Amino acid sequence: MANGYNHNVEALRDDEYPMLKDATYLDHAGTTLYSKSLMEKFMADMMSNLYGNPHSASPSSQLSTNRIEDIRLKVLQFFKANPALFDIVFTANATAGIKLVMDAFRDHKGGYSYGYHQDAHTSLVGVRESAIASRCLDDEDVEQWLSSGAFLVEDGLKSGANLFAYPAQSNMDGRRLPLSWIPRARSSSVISPTYTLLDASAFVSTAQLDLSNADTAPDFTVLSFYKMFGFPDLGALIVRKESGAILKERKYFGGGTVDVVLCNKEQWHAPKGDSLHERLEDGSLPFHSILALDAAIDVHKTLYGSMEQIAQHTAFLAQRLYDGLMSLRHANSDPVCEMYSHAPAFKKSGKSQGPIIAFNLRNSQGAWVSNTEVEKLAAVRKFHVRSGGLCNPGGVAACLGLEPWEMRKNFSAGFRCGAETDIYSGKITGVIRASIGAMSTMSDVDAFIAFVNEFYVEKTTSSLSKEVPGTHSSGQLIVESLTIYPIKSCGGLDVPLNTDWEVRPEGLAWDREWCLVHQGTGQALSQKRHPRMALIRPEIDFDKGLLRVRSVGSIEQIAVPLSSNPALFKSFNATQPSRVCGDSIVAHTYARPEINDFFSKILDVPCALARFPAGGSGFSMRHAKAHMQKHQKPKSNSSKTCHDKGTLAPPTPPDSDTEVQKRPILLSNESPILAINRSSLDALNEEISKVGGKPASASVFRANVVLASPQSENLEPYSEDHWTTLRIGEQIFQMLGSCRRCHMICIDQDTAERNDQPFVSLAKTRRFDSKIFFGSHMCHVPSKDITKMSQFPTIRVGDLVTIEAEDTS
Ligand SMILES: *Cc1c(COP(=O)(O)O)cnc(C)c1O
Repeated sequence: MANGYNHNVEALRDDEYPMLKDATYLDHAGTTLYSKSLMEKFMADMMSNLYGNPHSASPSSQLSTNRIEDIRLKVLQFFKANPALFDIVFTANATAGIKLVMDAFRDHKGGYSYGYHQDAHTSLVGVRESAIASRCLDDEDVEQWLSSGAFLVEDGLKSGANLFAYPAQSNMDGRRLPLSWIPRARSSSVISPTYTLLDASAFVSTAQLDLSNADTAPDFTVLSFYKMFGFPDLGALIVRKESGAILKERKYFGGGTVDVVLCNKEQWHAPKGDSLHERLEDGSLPFHSILALDAAIDVHKTLYGSMEQIAQHTAFLAQRLYDGLMSLRHANSDPVCEMYSHAPAFKKSGKSQGPIIAFNLRNSQGAWVSNTEVEKLAAVRKFHVRSGGLCNPGGVAACLGLEPWEMRKNFSAGFRCGAETDIYSGKITGVIRASIGAMSTMSDVDAFIAFVNEFYVEKTTSSLSKEVPGTHSSGQLIVESLTIYPIKSCGGLDVPLNTDWEVRPEGLAWDREWCLVHQGTGQALSQKRHPRMALIRPEIDFDKGLLRVRSVGSIEQIAVPLSSNPALFKSFNATQPSRVCGDSIVAHTYARPEINDFFSKILDVPCALARFPAGGSGFSMRHAKAHMQKHQKPKSNSSKTCHDKGTLAPPTPPDSDTEVQKRPILLSNESPILAINRSSLDALNEEISKVGGKPASASVFRANVVLASPQSENLEPYSEDHWTTLRIGEQIFQMLGSCRRCHMICIDQDTAERNDQPFVSLAKTRRFDSKIFFGSHMCHVPSKDITKMSQFPTIRVGDLVTIEAEDTS
């Protein structure tokens, strides 16, 4: 046990946590993991006893009642709370416990004033909404309030009670806040009493909550057990009985919390007995979960001994992670990680810092690395970390120096929880959080440091922009293949040789004409979440006028007419808007159950086939919000512009945030046509083979057009970055910019299996401004002359391609 590290964990890890086999799990602040012994013990209990709904007379009910009474005591003892002085109310989670306190305070005569610490979780922040007055406090504010004897909130004079809430540990950066505030707050009361609400959710997972001194204990403590044991999904509100009366002022009653209720001629009820938990536990108890808690506490003790031991173990690992990340330097010796968690505290066995490391990455030029991009690469390498706002609005804003006006501006610029872009005006809007749990090991920590080192440390001092040297201002290529994806995110269909294929303003004919939508949410499904979509293979039978669909490895098939017959669809009123990449579109869903069953069965998701209405406009049209990015260097736009009306529109920057180019693009995400350059693919595959990976096929990039040089040696890989215009056969196309990639390209299109290539090698060779690019967006430029050909523009495999490129010399 040198340094507090518990080597026993390594011995039990494989047996107890088989789900961690290939994963590096560093999101214990999200939830920790349940052990195999816990699940087995719980199952054995369930299988060998007959448990009924508690509080009736039957033996099965009595058994539940008795067990639950024992478990209440056991939980209180776990937190060293004297059952004579504390009561425990079981809740769905910590948030439900907070709401229960809020409900009672709202119903209190005179209402309440509310002060909450800046590091509070969103669930604590929301309590302000029913307070008479509220205020967010930082450390200094708290100290000032406690030492001055002033009101918690300025006009608190009017309210009947004060409530002061804060987390025992921040879920964002792991900071542990002073518990000494509690008794001081209690004695601070001016006129109306001050109560304390301690959110111990993050704290209890790796530290001993000690309620042995009721005088210094919080009045109300909330926590979630899944954060301690991984299971059950259950929370608790622990109440110091001396302060509990105010909770009985809650007006609501439900089944379980009353003895007698009259409804008809008279409205009257008698609340249940004396105990707080009886008055506050609405409805049936989550009794199976409470029973699981018994097993959870026992098994946890067997595996880990005491919370103190876990505290030491996790503090050791957090220190190691902190030191490891801090030691990473770019070649120019600038640090890679910007830390938001405090380090030295770990050394004092984690007294003021929990095992959570919040940080961000910078490149060698000091620019932020996007959180969402780190998450994508981490996901591919099977690291489980969390990033973004972490449900801790005050803490994140404070450590990132975000001002309220900036947050509002970001919000109106499209930033939301979980959105793609996280850097605005040079400020990053989220953090990366790696958190450690009882079953974490040194190898988890070391693997994560190695991951950051591998991908984010710039090992040479050469400048960021990798210029493509000596690019030709023109070149000769041919169309090697043409592919359409009739159903968005499903398998592709190669255009046969010697076939002219129509090019439309919105892309190649029949490309992403259909999609699959979730029957519940109406969201369009994508391969990123449903890799098996790759196995769905559409074919177009022009003779019979049918779209036929089968799936790899099955003989079953379905067919729908190519003609868009309104009778096939659900009535228009029933059509709910679908969403593709966040934008609302209207796709018409097919009504026939056998069609929808076919897809639902393959994907094991309740989904429906939908078709985008032809020639849609207005609400039914999805406009292009071109997600193309400039990288390497700013590009001047070519004078030719794609559009749908045959006139030249003024050039617009391809990366502009505003929707300037309005083009119908139907369901094809992001751009009408995607092209890739064979020599770039070859260069990428060379990189992949250097690390022993499997070469990527063109299909993973879901390109429509693969361009290859007849003599492959004379075209530079990635010269497409500089192309401005392509002539394919008789048609002109304008290049719109590079295509930004996510880990969806790691899905093998033949097997639907995921691995880490080609994303990992791309990340090493084609990362600009922390985004990863491969392939180019382009769109058709209609001819100005109205001819037969201009009314039916086509391209075919084997067409000659002429490139115009910007001059890079
Ligand atoms: C996880 C967490 C919560 C929310 O817990 P729920 O179980 O989702 O209600 C609140 N506060 C902190 C500090 C947390 O870590």
